Amino acid sequence: MQEWLQEPVIRLLAGLIGSSVVAWSSWRKQSLTSSGALAAIVVGTVTVAAGGAAWFGLVLVFFVSSSMLTRWKQARKAAAESAYAKGGRRDAGQVLANGGIATACCALTLIPGLDPTMLYAGFAGALGAATADTWATEIGGLSRSDPFHILTGKRVPAGTSGGITWLGSAAAIAGACLIGLSSLLLGGTTDMSFPLIVLVAGTAGAAVDSVIGAVWQHMYHCVSCGRFVESSEHCSMPARPARGLRWMDNDAVNGICTAVGACIGMLLVVL
Ligand SMILES: [Zn+2]
Repeated sequence: MQEWLQEPVIRLLAGLIGSSVVAWSSWRKQSLTSSGALAAIVVGTVTVAAGGAAWFGLVLVFFVSSSMLTRWKQARKAAAESAYAKGGRRDAGQVLANGGIATACCALTLIPGLDPTMLYAGFAGALGAATADTWATEIGGLSRSDPFHILTGKRVPAGTSGGITWLGSAAAIAGACLIGLSSLLLGGTTDMSFPLIVLVAGTAGAAVDSVIGAVWQHMYHCVSCGRFVESSEHCSMPARPARGLRWMDNDAVNGICTAVGACIGMLLVVL
């Protein structure tokens, strides 16, 4: 790393400016809400200040690829069924659910005595899981055949929590691969087996996400269209609570998914 970047104050400023530029342009492109942009600035500033350029670069690979996929799908959806065109903007809850664990792993490197190699594996494992899950959701939604339930194997309607498709599963693996390879290319690690660790951690995290989504996620029943949905509102009216744990919303499920990715990443690198 360049010498001037070693200075803590300079790094803090560089992180603040760099992530503000990214957050501002994402807010303008409608990828982030105002609260989401603020959360993204916190995540970006911490990763540059505590980790450095290689860590921040990995966050960007996740963030840019996921935002592009969401926007691309939104454009397709809007053309197909304009009535359902809903904003794909991520708020602070979504940003922190996907990036909070990774940011925490990065911040922990500031504590002397904690192994930075292990923390980097947790960081990359969390981002690998977030990327795998986001890619699976966005690309899997384009599958022509109905998903099957991750636990029962039965066909379920598209959009059902816990439903997985072959296309979505392949996308999850590809997303985790991208994060693993990027960690090597960006210079976050020199360990050639590291991408494989991120692949396993990320894919496992996304699989756990599907299982939790299937069993515990809080779902609502829309009285208007009769569908089971994740939000408390559908067809512009309040939906009825149907099943699952009340606090287990989509953000909580995503947070657990990235925590599993981080734990498996750290475990594999220690072994
Ligand atoms: Zn509805």
